[in-house]
Amino acid sequence: MVRSMPAFDRRTFLTSLAAGVAAAAVGPGALSESEPHRASAAGQSTLSRDLAVPAYTPLPLGAVRPTGWLARQLRLQADGLTGHLDQFWPDVADSQWFGGKAEGWERAPYWLDGAIPLAWTLDDAPLKARIATYVNFIVDHQRADGWYAPYPEDAVRKRYDMWAILLANKALVQYHDATGDARVLAAVRKSLGAIAGGLDRTPLYNWGKFRWYEGLVSVFYVYERTQDPGLLDLARKLRAQGVDFEALFATDDLSVPTPRRGLWRWTKHGVNTAMATKASALSWRLDQRASDRAWSTAMIAFLDRYHGQATGMFSADECLSGKSPLQGSELCSVVEFMYSLETLFSVFGDPLFGDRLEKIAFNALPATLAPDMWSHQYDQQVNQAQCTINPDARWSTNGPESNLFGLEPNYGCCTSNLHQGWPKFASHLWMRTPDAGVALAAYAPSRATFDSRGVAVTLSLDTDYPFRDTLALTVAPERPVHFPVVLRVPAWATGATVRIGTEAAIPMAPGTMHRLERVWSGRVEMAIHFPMAPVIVERYNGAVAIERGPLVYALEIGESHTRVNADKPHRELPHGDFEVRPTTPWNYGLVSDGDGVTGLAFEERPLGARPFSPDGAGMVATARARTIPSWQIDAGWAAEIATPDSASADPSRRVTNEPEQTVALLPYGCTNIRITEFPRLT
Ligand SMILES: [Zn+2]
Repeated sequence: MVRSMPAFDRRTFLTSLAAGVAAAAVGPGALSESEPHRASAAGQSTLSRDLAVPAYTPLPLGAVRPTGWLARQLRLQADGLTGHLDQFWPDVADSQWFGGKAEGWERAPYWLDGAIPLAWTLDDAPLKARIATYVNFIVDHQRADGWYAPYPEDAVRKRYDMWAILLANKALVQYHDATGDARVLAAVRKSLGAIAGGLDRTPLYNWGKFRWYEGLVSVFYVYERTQDPGLLDLARKLRAQGVDFEALFATDDLSVPTPRRGLWRWTKHGVNTAMATKASALSWRLDQRASDRAWSTAMIAFLDRYHGQATGMFSADECLSGKSPLQGSELCSVVEFMYSLETLFSVFGDPLFGDRLEKIAFNALPATLAPDMWSHQYDQQVNQAQCTINPDARWSTNGPESNLFGLEPNYGCCTSNLHQGWPKFASHLWMRTPDAGVALAAYAPSRATFDSRGVAVTLSLDTDYPFRDTLALTVAPERPVHFPVVLRVPAWATGATVRIGTEAAIPMAPGTMHRLERVWSGRVEMAIHFPMAPVIVERYNGAVAIERGPLVYALEIGESHTRVNADKPHRELPHGDFEVRPTTPWNYGLVSDGDGVTGLAFEERPLGARPFSPDGAGMVATARARTIPSWQIDAGWAAEIATPDSASADPSRRVTNEPEQTVALLPYGCTNIRITEFPRLT
C-alpha cells in the first residue's frame, strides 16, 4: 500500500477528520448506545460557567501507574538524568528558584514540569521528597506582592519577560494536583494576581508573547477550583497581548525553510511553534470560537505540508527548516508537541490527535534520548548516518554539536525540558469522560483508578503495544456501575476489533472513538486487536519510508561511540558527551516491486530491559536492498537523496549495480543512527 506525498497534508487531515466525526463510533449492539461520539458536540452543551469542559479530562496525577515496558522506561528515566539533574547540574542544583546563585529563569521550572509527573506517576518516594523541598522553598519565598523570589525587587517597575513565571505555575499546579497541598494552590493564585497587574504595566513581549497560552493552563486549573471570574479576565488579557498564530500564519510566509545560517526569527522558532499548536484548544475553552477548533487541525496540517518529517514531527533547527530528512527536530519541540497533542486530544476529543501523539512518543522521543536516559540530542535527523561535532552542519541556525548525544549539546534548554515527555504521556493515557466514564487517549501498559458515580474502578491495560497488535483491557469496579469505556481506534487500524469476555468480537471503525457502554460488574476482560499492516510512505525527493502501526522503521546500523568533551564541566560519566559513527554500511536503497518493498517481513522479538534500544527492540523487520556506492557522507551528514528526475542532487545517488541483499530494520525509536527515508530502486 502506497500513500502519496505529502503523507499528511492539510486536505488529507481535514478530510479524514471529517470522516472520523461522520463515522462516529457506535456501540456494539445491545451492549452500547448507538450515539455519536460526544467530542463532536462537547463544549456546546457542557459549560462550566464561562469555561467549556474538555471532551476528556486527564485523571489526577498519580491515578495512572505505568506497568510493563512503560514502567521500565520511566524507571530508566528516574535512574538517569531526570532523577539526578538537581544533584549536579548547576542551573537546577544551584537554581535561584531554590535559593542558589545559578540560572533563575526557565531551567528549574522546566525540570520540575517533568520531574513532578515522573515522581508521582512512578510513586518514587525519594524523588517526591526532594521535589517537595524545592516546591516548599518556592512557596515559602514568594513575596507578599505575589512575585516569586528569583524576580528582582523592582519587578513591579522593571520590564521583564513573563514566560518563566507562566512555566513555573504550570509545574506548580501539577504538584497541587498530585498532593492537594492547599498552600501551593494559594501561591499560584497569588502569582496569577501579580501577573494580571504586571500585564497592565508591561504587556507581554518576546517569550511571554509567543507562549501566552501556557499561562492558561494554570489559570484554568485555579479557576476550576475557585470559580474566580477575574481569572478568566486574566486569560483573555494574556490572549489579547499574545501572538494570534492563525493571523501570523496567514500573513508571514512560514512555509519557506530557513536557509543555512539564516536569520533566527521569533515567528519561525520551532519550540514556540510546537507549543503553539495547543493555543487554539486552550483559547477555544474561553468562548468556543469555531475558528479555534478549525485552526487546531489546520496549523498541524500546514506544518506537515511544508516541514513534516517521517516521525510525525516537523523540522526546526532551530527555525522551521523544510521537509528534508537531514534537517533537525529539537528535543524541546518533541516533548512540547506531545504535550500540545495531549491537550488537543483532551479538549476536542479527536482521535487523530491521539494517533499523532503515539507516533511521536514511540518514534521521535525515544530516538533522540540515549537508551539509558542519561544523554540526549538537541536535534535529531530522520536520516542520521552519524552524530559528530560537525562545523559543516547545515542546520538553519544551530551549532556544530547539535546532534551529539550529551549533557547539554548546543544549548541547555533541552537538558532541562526533556523530562516531561514520557511522564506526561503516561499521565494522559486514560482520561475521564463528561458522563462518568473513561477514555483511552493512547495505549501503553498501565493501570489506572478512577471514581464513577461514587464507585471505585480499577482499570488495567496489559500489552507490549506498540511492538504487538493485541492489548488486554480489564475493567474491575468495586460494585456494579454503569458508564462508558471509550476506545481510540487508530486511523491505520483497519480491521480493528474488541472482544468482551467470551462474547463475539466487535468490529471498530478506524479513526473513531469507539464507545462501550454497559453496567460493568465484577472483573471484565476485553481483548483489543489493532491489526498493523505495513505502509510504504512516499516522502521528500521521492524517497520511501516504512510504517507499521504507530511505528516507523529505519535501517539498523552498527555503531561505535567515542567520548568527547570530557574536559568540559559536569561531563563525568554517566552524563558525558559522545559521538556515534557507523560501523556497517548505511547507503542502501530499497528494492521495490511495484508499489511495495521487496521482501518486507516483520518478526517479533522479546522486549528488552531497555525497550527503545537497538538490542531491546520488540519487533524487527527485513527488506531487500542494495548499497549505492556514490551515496556518501557530505558535509558530515548522509548526502541528500536525488529526486528521480531532477538535478537538485547528484542523480548517481540512485544508481547501483551492487548485489541485492537482505537488510535489518528496527523501530525508529530504537535506533541511535539510522536511515529512514530510502531511495527506491526499481
Ligand atoms: Zn531545547
